[in-house]
Order: sequence, then structure tokens, then C-alpha cells
Amino acid sequence: MLQSQLFPKTLREAPKEAESVNHKLLVRAGFIDQLMAGSWTLLPLGYRVVAKIIQVVREEMNAVGGQEMLMPLLHPKNIWNETGRWDKAKEVMYQFMDARGKEFALSFTHEEIVMDLLRKNIKSYADLPVAVYHFSTKFRNEPRARSGILRGREFLMKDLYSAHVSEADMLSYYEKVKDAYKKIFTRLGFDFRVIETGGGVFTDRRTHEFQVLAKGGEDTIFYCDSCDWGENKEIFGGKAGEACPSCKKGKVLTSSAIEVGNIFPLGTWYAERMRVYYADEKGMKKPVWFASYGIGPTRTMGAWVEVSHDEKGIIWNKTLAPFAVHLIELPGAKNAKKVYEDLQKAGIEVLWDDREVGAGEKFADADLIGIPVRTVVSDKTGDKIELKKRDGDKTELVTFEELTKRL
Ligand code: ATP
Ligand code: MG
Repeated sequence: MLQSQLFPKTLREAPKEAESVNHKLLVRAGFIDQLMAGSWTLLPLGYRVVAKIIQVVREEMNAVGGQEMLMPLLHPKNIWNETGRWDKAKEVMYQFMDARGKEFALSFTHEEIVMDLLRKNIKSYADLPVAVYHFSTKFRNEPRARSGILRGREFLMKDLYSAHVSEADMLSYYEKVKDAYKKIFTRLGFDFRVIETGGGVFTDRRTHEFQVLAKGGEDTIFYCDSCDWGENKEIFGGKAGEACPSCKKGKVLTSSAIEVGNIFPLGTWYAERMRVYYADEKGMKKPVWFASYGIGPTRTMGAWVEVSHDEKGIIWNKTLAPFAVHLIELPGAKNAKKVYEDLQKAGIEVLWDDREVGAGEKFADADLIGIPVRTVVSDKTGDKIELKKRDGDKTELVTFEELTKRL
């Protein structure tokens, strides 16, 4: 990609109303744009990062047998009345009436929609288990949409739904998905904890959240410094510094954190209300056991910026970066075009700063955008390339072969 053509240009100043780090940096660097409170465009750079997150999530969902599909976002009122959530979730759901007087909601989640699919398509135990997921927009009337892309009124979610013949089967799959989530957030490079909490408008059971340890996070979590015990402040009655209630050996620590994923072992509550039954081996009608699992790819991008930045800008890692390498062309460089084309031939994603602006501006933009590897070609580098990592100070002169090996 040629930086002279990249839309839009970076901004020197963050918007006045921006309070959070992700809001300031992602807007300045040209990753996102705000239409109104809680409503964001993913600009080309931001969309590249979110696409990388989506691909990691997709691979791990497929690895546990999830089948990708796509469900509608405009829902009729009657389906939400079947579970009583039209009223119960009124505060978060955007509900409206069309010009003919028919009532609809914009999707804030999809349990009811999946239940409708199941009751139309599941007959016997032989049709179960089922695991389906999609990536799509969710709409939620968030009262405080002030944390940049961390809290949108419209945002992306990956939601997986699974249906089973028994509680045991549901719980064993739930553990598999929990492991898949651990793999996802490990691959993305996060320092996170799996935390037990309540189920909100989804269930009375305990659920598990995936929480990224972050200074600016809205959540407060408690976790053990030696075992994997962890609870959200909503359910934990103790204090930091106490002995761990699970292993008794470790100490309870506390941190602010950002919730990036949440999984819900829902049980038969939805099936009973929506009459989703299957026939068991003896022909007896039984409600399906149901669970749902969410991850927010757009919030995940914002969470990374909250935990990985400096005073100059964002610091992406290899997995999340919009491009693998930033190629800065300075006056007198003879090999810029060749390096650019050879990198592309080698299948390496490169942003080439081919603009006719000063070196200072180019370096400042490179630090702001935060691609993990910066390379420079100039009158001084000859047929070699200067290489510097975004998170280091050391520069070195390398050949093209050395550069591709490093990437
Ligand atoms: P929160 O407590 O932060 O409002 P939630 O618990 O209501 O979030 P879930 O229903 O568990 O959210 O949604 C699953 C995932 O979707 C979350 O873990 C998060 O990654 C993402 N998500 C939820 N709400 C938003 C939002 N308003 N903006 C961006 N992502 C969100
Ligand atoms: Mg949640």
C-alpha cells in the first residue's frame, strides 16, 4: 500500500472530547472515525486490524467444530416476546415501530434467533450437538458510550451458539470453547485472566469473562497470583491481599480490566420458553441444552491500544499490525520501489511512505501508526535497508534477505 494514497491522513491533535487512550490514538492515527457517540467507522487501517482479529477467532472457532453463517439484525417483536426479553432487555435493545405500525428490534444478541432455527431443524438426538457462529453487528443502547471503540452503541461481535442433548455434553463443550478462547487471546498477545461472574440478562448461572489487565479498564477483577481462580467484583465478597479462596496458598490480587469475551452456559431456559425439543433414544421429548459465547473484535482492537502504546503512538504486535513492515523512503534513496515490490512478491504486507514530506513527519507518523518494524531507505543506506523495531531504539543496516528473514 502506498501511503500517499492511504485514506485518511493522520491528525496532529486528538479530538477535544476524546477521554480514553484508544479513542485519541486510533482517531489520530486514522484507524477509526466517530459518527456520533458510540458509532464508529472502521477506516482502512482499523479494518485491517479487525480483519486479523476476526481471522484468529474464526480459526479457533472452526477448530472446535463451529460452523460459520450469518443471521439477520432486524428482528420481529414476537420472537423476543417468547422469552420475555422484549421487556426484560428494554434498556439495551433498540426497539421501534415502522410506518405500518409493526414493531422491531435491532439485534443486541441472537439467542432467540438461533432457538428459532433449532426448533425448525432439530428433531431427534441424532441431530445434536450443533455449534454455529457468526460475525455481525450488535446494537446496544449503552448509557455511557465514552470509552472510544471499547463501548460502541453499534459494534462487532463474534457469537457462537451450541445446542446439546444433556447438561454434561453442554458443559464439556463449554470447557472446549473456554480453551479455544484462551488460545485466541494468547495468540493475539494479551495478558488476560478468565474470571467468573454473573449472567446479566442472559442467565442466572455463573458465566466466564475473558478480562485483559488494563489500567483504564471499566471492570474490576480479583484473581489469584498462583492458581487460575478469578472473580469479578460483582460476585466476589472478599478483599485483595486475602488468601485465595480456591487454592488457599496464593494471594488475591486486584486489577482494573477490559472484558473482551464472555461465555454463558445457559441451560434449558431458552428451549423451554421457545419449545425447542428433541426426541431422545426412547422417543421422549426433551428440551435442548444451550450455551452462547461472545467476543468483541472491535473492543479487542481498542483493548490492545490501551495496553500497548507510548507517548508517540500505538505499538502493534506482529499478529494485530495492519502491515508487517513500514517502509520509509527518504530523499536520495535508489532502491525504495524495488524493496517495496520485492516485499510484496515475498507475500509481506508493507506500507510504503512514498510521500514528499519531511523525514520528521514520516518518522512521527510511523510511530503514531505503530507498525512493529520500521525500515528506512535513503542516500546513506545504499543498497541496504535500515531496520528498527517500533518498541526499541536500536537501528541496524541489513540486506533484503536479512530483512525478510526477520519478518
Ligand atoms: P459490558 O459489561 O462491557 O457492557 P457485556 O458483558 O454486556 O459488556 P456481552 O454481552 O458479554 O457484553 O458481549 C460479549 C462481548 O461483546 C464482550 O465481551 C465484548 O467483547 C463485546 N461487547 C459488548 N458490549 C460491547 C460494546 N458496547 N462495544 C463493543 N464491544 C462490546
Ligand atoms: Mg459480558
